[in-house]
Amino acid sequence: PSGAVLLDVNGIEVIYNHVILVLKGVSLVVPEGKIVALLGANGAGKTTTLRAISNLLRAERGHVTKGDITYRGERIESLSPADLVQRGVVQVMEGRHCFAHLSIEDNLLTGAYTRQLSRADLAIALERVYAYFPRLKQRRTSQAGYTSGGEQQMCAIGRALMAQPSMILLDEPSMGLAPQIVEEIFEIVRDLNQRERVSFLLAEQNTNVALRYADYGYILENGRVMMDGTAEDLAANEDVKEFYLGIS
Ligand code: ATP
Repeated sequence: PSGAVLLDVNGIEVIYNHVILVLKGVSLVVPEGKIVALLGANGAGKTTTLRAISNLLRAERGHVTKGDITYRGERIESLSPADLVQRGVVQVMEGRHCFAHLSIEDNLLTGAYTRQLSRADLAIALERVYAYFPRLKQRRTSQAGYTSGGEQQMCAIGRALMAQPSMILLDEPSMGLAPQIVEEIFEIVRDLNQRERVSFLLAEQNTNVALRYADYGYILENGRVMMDGTAEDLAANEDVKEFYLGIS
């Protein structure tokens, strides 16, 4: 993809439990201000790639055994997830992971804890999130566990936004959601990208929707990048259509 490189993943290999080689040399680039899609079937290695970047592998007994990862030119493999948040890289995990017993607003506030904002600045940060997610404002006193799947996904993205990231790693935002809600969420992703210049690396099994919103895409198969290209080129590619878009 074209543009100044923000995130550069270079030839990473990942194993879980010291034995299973899951990523077999994955390289990808996210340029500043772009939306890059990481595509592929269930089990292809998308989540593992995001975990390697945000250094969440260790919790899963996983390790990067080869390759390197840089963000704004700085090596980040040994940084903790909290250090990464400080540098502007925030992951939204698959399955949304809001705190079910906290209100939507309290969930959002947890996203800002690394920022040490004053009360006034916290209020400003909240209003900024609510401007993108009016539904969350309506539901701000509701317990997250009782809100819809779409609202919980919005809550998870909103919470990430509270940390004022320059890059969001977004894992399967469409999972389990009705098509109309998926569009709503992707529209907000596009808005955040265009208005706030937040860059995105988003893992998606829903190739169709991801390629409509992304600038560039990588297709993973079995822990390897099988193909990459502009979203437009991938959407027009016959193999992609056949295997990933369900159109022959
Ligand atoms: P999904 O859409 O299911 O998240 P994915 O493309 O994100 O799929 P990964 O979750 O990265 O794929 O999984 C890639 C491979 O790694 C799979 O074969 C999976 O079984 C294996 N794997 C994932 N997590 C672990 C783990 N904690 N321990 C062992 N193997 C794992």
